[in-house]
Amino acid sequence: MSATVVLLGPPACGKGTQAERLRDRAGFALVATGDLLREARAAGTELGARAAVFMDRGVLVPDELIIGIVAEAVGALGSGPVVLDGVSRTVPQALELDALVRAHERELTAAILIDVPDDEVVRRIAGRHQGRTDDTPETARERLRVYHRETEPLVRHFEARGLLRRVDGAQDADSVEDGVRAALG
Ligand code: AMP
Repeated sequence: MSATVVLLGPPACGKGTQAERLRDRAGFALVATGDLLREARAAGTELGARAAVFMDRGVLVPDELIIGIVAEAVGALGSGPVVLDGVSRTVPQALELDALVRAHERELTAAILIDVPDDEVVRRIAGRHQGRTDDTPETARERLRVYHRETEPLVRHFEARGLLRRVDGAQDADSVEDGVRAALG
């Protein structure tokens, strides 16, 4: 069964960077819902237009839209290991992901929480200007609130299943990468 790894953590915790490193240096396929949504938006699709309204407010895109794009992306994968960046963000998404993973004869191997304290998250977002329309200080604060309210309950969900691995995200990217690799054994 192919390994399936979930990366979890607050906005600006470095999930995107670590997911790309697993892709570029460890042979993982990468599914990043934020990227898929931004691509859909840039391509002017209906999905992209619907998602944009939520993304620009810093709130989550409704589960049914996400579940559709994740199902399509996972269905298109080959048999190798995959890292999921930004999925799941809610408990219903996690339950759907379980079903999807089983349906494709994969196995959820680990959920890696990249832990960064709130004040560091706010500092990082204030300092980064990547041209993302949801990267203003106000939306950053909203995304952090949404993380605590809707995504953090997943920590217990994965912990209860023995899948949670914590990595200190308040370090440089190389050290975080070492932590991620160690967490994957
Ligand atoms: P990200 O690039 O992962 O920070 O995602 C950017 C934005 O896309 C988020 O603030 C959400 O509005 C939306 N998004 C990405 N992934 C999800 C998801 N799994 N569920 C709901 N919304 C998502």
